[in-house]
Amino acid sequence: MGKTIIVSNRLPVNITKKEGQLLYKSSAGGLATGLGSIYKEGDNVWIGWPGLSIKKEKEKQTVTAELKKENMQPVFLSKAEIRDFYEGFSNGTLWPNFHYFNQYAIYEQDLWESYKTVNYKFCLEILKVAEEGDTIWVHDYQLLLLPEMLREKLPNISIGFFQHIPFPSYEVFRLLPWRKEILFGMLGADLVGFHTYDDMRHFLSSASRLIGKSNSQGQIPMDNRYVVVDSFPMGIDYDKYAESAASEEALERETKYRTGLGDHKIIICIDRLDYSKGIPQRLEAFELFLQKYPEYKENVSILMIVVPSRDQVEKYKELKEEIDELVGRINGRFGRITWTPIYYFYRSFPLKALSAFYKIADVALVTPMRDGMNLVCKEYIASKIDKKGVLILSEMAGASKELSDAILINPNDINEVVSAIHQALNMPEEEQIRHMTIMQQSIKKYNIHHWVNLFMDRLNEIKGKQKSLATKKLDKESFQMIKNRYDKAQKRLIYLDYDGTLTPFSDEPQKAAPGDELLEILQQLTADPLNRIVIISGRDRHTLENWLGHLDVDFICEHGVWLKEKTNSWNMIEKLTDHWKQEILPILELYVSRTPGSLIETKDYSLVWHYRKVETGLGELRTRELSSHLKYISANMNLQVLEGDMVVEIKNSGVNKGRAATAWLEKFPADFVMALGDDWTDEDTFKAMPDNAITVKVGSSSSAARFNVVSYKEVRKFLSQIVELNTVSQ
Ligand code: UDP
Repeated sequence: MGKTIIVSNRLPVNITKKEGQLLYKSSAGGLATGLGSIYKEGDNVWIGWPGLSIKKEKEKQTVTAELKKENMQPVFLSKAEIRDFYEGFSNGTLWPNFHYFNQYAIYEQDLWESYKTVNYKFCLEILKVAEEGDTIWVHDYQLLLLPEMLREKLPNISIGFFQHIPFPSYEVFRLLPWRKEILFGMLGADLVGFHTYDDMRHFLSSASRLIGKSNSQGQIPMDNRYVVVDSFPMGIDYDKYAESAASEEALERETKYRTGLGDHKIIICIDRLDYSKGIPQRLEAFELFLQKYPEYKENVSILMIVVPSRDQVEKYKELKEEIDELVGRINGRFGRITWTPIYYFYRSFPLKALSAFYKIADVALVTPMRDGMNLVCKEYIASKIDKKGVLILSEMAGASKELSDAILINPNDINEVVSAIHQALNMPEEEQIRHMTIMQQSIKKYNIHHWVNLFMDRLNEIKGKQKSLATKKLDKESFQMIKNRYDKAQKRLIYLDYDGTLTPFSDEPQKAAPGDELLEILQQLTADPLNRIVIISGRDRHTLENWLGHLDVDFICEHGVWLKEKTNSWNMIEKLTDHWKQEILPILELYVSRTPGSLIETKDYSLVWHYRKVETGLGELRTRELSSHLKYISANMNLQVLEGDMVVEIKNSGVNKGRAATAWLEKFPADFVMALGDDWTDEDTFKAMPDNAITVKVGSSSSAARFNVVSYKEVRKFLSQIVELNTVSQ
């Protein structure tokens, strides 16, 4: 087992300088706690920026040595890098775009250059310690390019990537000038994780639309591996919050605060200063609430904590001013000598104080305009030992997907927020307890440790699968074994699929037609009297005969409908009818008229609806509609409806490549049998092959074949080496 390397922009430590002395304080954040079980073990390490800019070499060495004791390794960033990479591109470009505040996003080439440079700096730091066999877990939007950079240097290493903030819809993400580089950067990982299914869906859609990387059930095939994209909602350290809430100190503080605040109801709001948190909108909703329900004057107060953050940045300064003004206005308008509507603190508090706040709060009002997860709402739930309290939660927070027992609101709908406050303040106790109990059970189970284990286990599982795929790779050793068997054989039967196996896949006939290189390989193969070469394809017989009919080959066409042995005439595998086409064709035509870019291919005994050129997503949607429509219509027609790679095919039942291939096996027994193919229709061929056959799948998705090659180019190289031909481009 190799070591595990955690990488994030910030190390889980705070270093401050006091009178020339460096002071170290471990971070108590949830992520640091969760990952503590990993990076503190053995040779494992956490790599990141220690949080302050250090110039002197000697001081860097001291910090490095000191952090090493805690299994941490620093990446030192200069002031300019912090400005351009961190405040600039990460927080000024990616953060607003990913939170749907694209109007705030800055597009500056210099910032992007700095982002690339710093990601590479992280890469170099990691390479000092990383070895094949290790696992690297990269965190968050500051390091989106890092997985690909690491993959280039260490192709087989296991890389996980988790994004803690939302991934926006394709429509928003595509506005970024560097969108393609970012997607490729992330896809360097083996596992890409998000908090919610929606984030994951948006990422998959962007990958498919922007860089043509489509997925099958969240798996994206890359050159010689596949990337799994999944959602892993992050939890909190539940016990820490529950225990802190029950502690003596929290109890004392609770009594003290309660006395100070009086005995009216308390609504808690805790956020970092950020425009994504919807703080002004929430204040406006509270103002409207007091206007609409004047009976609550002197009966309810908001306790609002805003933790200072990025307040050197103009947008954040403006936001701070806006909040200050709003609080002033509302308190000025409604406040009484005996009652303050909003208690406002612009600073952070220690855990025990937060616990006391959570406990005294009758309601938690968490209304971000957009939030990756939002931990405050989960902490509120964990702190409610007596289970009394109501959570109002924005449906734009990742946490809302798990917490359906909260009162969910749209933060843009001020009237809904006002009603939710009213509903929460009036909720009967037993109802509060019922909802809180359900939410506590969930938050307790899906805690931070669960999240860490889930992600790491999944990453290991993927690596395991990748390895088994790698062992199937047609390497030098396997080639030699095949070549020896080929040379010794007395009779050889070789099945070759055409599109995607011998040529690149293309709808355009001129691109799919065989060129000189392929024809020469096939000529060499057929020149050997011991060989029987069978072209086994879904294509119609006329096209294939036109292209390859002059060669000494057999044909199995239309996925096994039409058969031809060398110069003999065409035969049908069994007597098939095609009357059904008259009924099915109008249905396909209807779908073509509704779906621009789609087309119908008519074969003798099958009809194919192609949607490769249809807008991404629409094709898939129509496929589902069409398939169920056809399955219903064709139930009594002895037909099969098959969904393939950007196609829906309708043909007679019981006809497939495997069945046709079996006929050849029986008729032409051979001591060397080999089959090459690239898609799902070739799986039938592979399955029909005898145990000792050589079966080769083109592509990396799982297959019944014994070996995998990456592309048709590798097939050509392989075949030319088998027949000892030297003209194929390597
Ligand atoms: N927090 C804190 N001290 C405070 C206020 C908040 O430590 O005075 C913590 C809070 O407990 C929570 C975190 O800050 O763990 C905020 O996390 P969240 O996911 O809600 O928002 P983020 O700031 O990550 O966007």
